[in-house]
Amino acid sequence: MQLDSKIPPGPLADKWAYAKSHYKLVNPANKRKYDIIVVGAGLAGASAAASLGELGYNVKCFVYHDSPRRAHSIAAQGGINAAKNYRNDGDSVYRLFYDTIKGGDYRAREANVHRLAELSVNIIDQAVAQGVPFAREYGGALENRSFGGVQVSRTFYARGQTGQQLLLGAFQALERQIALGTVKQFNRYEMLDLVVVDGHAKGIITRNLLNGKIEAHAADAVVLGTGGYVNVFYLSTNAKASNATSIWRAHKRGALFANPCYTQIHPTCIPQSGDYQSKLTLMSESLRNDGRIWVPKTQGDTRGPKQIPEAERDYYLERKYPSFGNLAPRDIASRAAKEVCDEGRGIGGSGRGVYLDFADAIKRLGRKTIEERYGNLFDMYHDITAEDPYEMPMRIYPAPHYSMGGLWVDYNLMSNVPGLYVIGEANFSDHGANRLGASALMQGLADGYFVLPVTIGDYLATQFGKKADAKSSAFSDAENDVRRRVSRLVDAKGTRSVDSYHKELGGIMWEYCGMARSAEGLKKALGMIRESREQYWRDVRVTGTGEEPNQALEKAGRVADFFELAELMCIDALHREESAGGHFRVEYQTPDGEAQRNDEQFLYVGGWEYKGEGNEPVLHKEPLVYEEAKLATRSYK
Ligand SMILES: Cc1cc2nc3c(=O)[nH]c(=O)nc-3n(C[C@H](O)[C@H](O)[C@H](O)COP(=O)(O)OP(=O)(O)OC[C@H]3O[C@@H](n4cnc5c(N)ncnc54)[C@H](O)[C@@H]3O)c2cc1C
Repeated sequence: MQLDSKIPPGPLADKWAYAKSHYKLVNPANKRKYDIIVVGAGLAGASAAASLGELGYNVKCFVYHDSPRRAHSIAAQGGINAAKNYRNDGDSVYRLFYDTIKGGDYRAREANVHRLAELSVNIIDQAVAQGVPFAREYGGALENRSFGGVQVSRTFYARGQTGQQLLLGAFQALERQIALGTVKQFNRYEMLDLVVVDGHAKGIITRNLLNGKIEAHAADAVVLGTGGYVNVFYLSTNAKASNATSIWRAHKRGALFANPCYTQIHPTCIPQSGDYQSKLTLMSESLRNDGRIWVPKTQGDTRGPKQIPEAERDYYLERKYPSFGNLAPRDIASRAAKEVCDEGRGIGGSGRGVYLDFADAIKRLGRKTIEERYGNLFDMYHDITAEDPYEMPMRIYPAPHYSMGGLWVDYNLMSNVPGLYVIGEANFSDHGANRLGASALMQGLADGYFVLPVTIGDYLATQFGKKADAKSSAFSDAENDVRRRVSRLVDAKGTRSVDSYHKELGGIMWEYCGMARSAEGLKKALGMIRESREQYWRDVRVTGTGEEPNQALEKAGRVADFFELAELMCIDALHREESAGGHFRVEYQTPDGEAQRNDEQFLYVGGWEYKGEGNEPVLHKEPLVYEEAKLATRSYK
């Protein structure tokens, strides 16, 4: 299979303009004759569905939530990047492009990243026009702060609720289209399969989560904006319901899964406190603007933070990375935290924690300023830990947070299955091997508001009069597959809960495919996953039936998919014999413990093709060509 990325010709900065001028168009009067299915209404899906509706297409939008407003995007705290250069601190579209390519350890596609940087400025205008209440300076101009891996302030934010405010903007736009009749909203519907007719994506199979009804829906194109898969680790910062089912089932129908091993472990999360915990909480990276990270210099120092004098503290990020200090990128900051904890210098009961200390900032800026900047995050920390971060440093530790891998898409955001588009965190596109903070919201909204609404026309123009029939055998076969799978789970009637298996899988993944990976560990993990998965299908216990609201059943299907995805993640991590960004193979590191890439052998996107149960997946490579950014060893020193 040849992976054609469809990168437009011409200089990097002109490619998007060129593409827009050359895409095929759909006549405005014909747009309403096309049906488009959008699965997901997080920032990516809601912005896409609203924009497609506004253009005049006939949109059906499906979510498993009871309202689009519940999408996981609502949890985003810290901010959204844009190269507006309001601070006049040397920012530019090129610099955002360059920071993103370097931040991703040179494993992203240049043309996509440049387009993202160009569109970043439009997103802010769009959101402001919708009334998103971004923080403002005293004079009224929009305020900015910094995020990891950059030396400018380009992050726009709405206190610690940026995702929520942006989602309200997108949701309003979506509601408007629903009222106008261009978008039909299906809440509490879970997509459980993709329907492919003559090689083209032509519909989906859903399960109504309220009554269990399995239904087929046909369309001229299908868009997946269904979020990331980092809940494969069980404990993560993602919403509990986030899962990989839609992209995994599409993968099994032919869509390539790209770079599954690229997952992000975020450095600033509240450490795990016990075995019965089911969720980890992020403390936004924005806190690293003012908080200083440290551990005691001496191993096993059990004194409280205030008893440890300045000279006996190791501000290890400032020491190791003087130019970027506490704003070193996430992959690097997470590994550094793990390293000091492995050395026996971690803090807290488990020894798996480091301090994030605001004492200096409070002294310098005053408590009121810190309250204004981070008040709700401090409150959240206090509520969870019963410790007051204004008085005591926060305790933090890395946790699974984001997936850079996802379904493979070309420049137009179309997967290798014609008619199947993938947007937001669900695709692999723009972040390479490590995502910089505040750029996921930027990507999801760029995809939904600005890219997809233009690129999809190029495909739809070729599909006029080629409607699929939801009563055809392709649909009924897929429906039957879904029914069989649901019955198999309900009928297993085993002894262990879905959660207990999920937790076991998460433990394996964290241990062997988490912050540090080795060939030996990954092989061991593959054996363990296969064994546990086999047992799962025999021994899982799903209470209730398939004809009623049944969360155990919902979870059971998702965990079954996580098992298969976990296996692919380990296969991908094993094959990639280099370290890059969030993928750290202990065998491939520099003498001072930094990731060591191997550009000669691994300068490509790895897209995996599903070959059926029990068969090895097949790897297809999309070579990465750098014309503008020079390949270099990533340094934040
Ligand atoms: C705690 C936290 C804080 C973050 N803070 C920031 C930040 O400050 N800045 C930043 O840039 N990024 C941040 N991120 C990352 C960012 O929030 C996400 O990457 C982004 O919101 C993902 O948006 P999305 O639209 O792709 O997916 P989601 O918001 O996850 O939406 C997925 C949608 O798909 C639907 N869905 C999924 N599967 C199915 C299915 N099978 N059937 C039907 N519907 C389905 C869901 O109902 C939902 O509507 C943060 C992430 C976390 C976890």
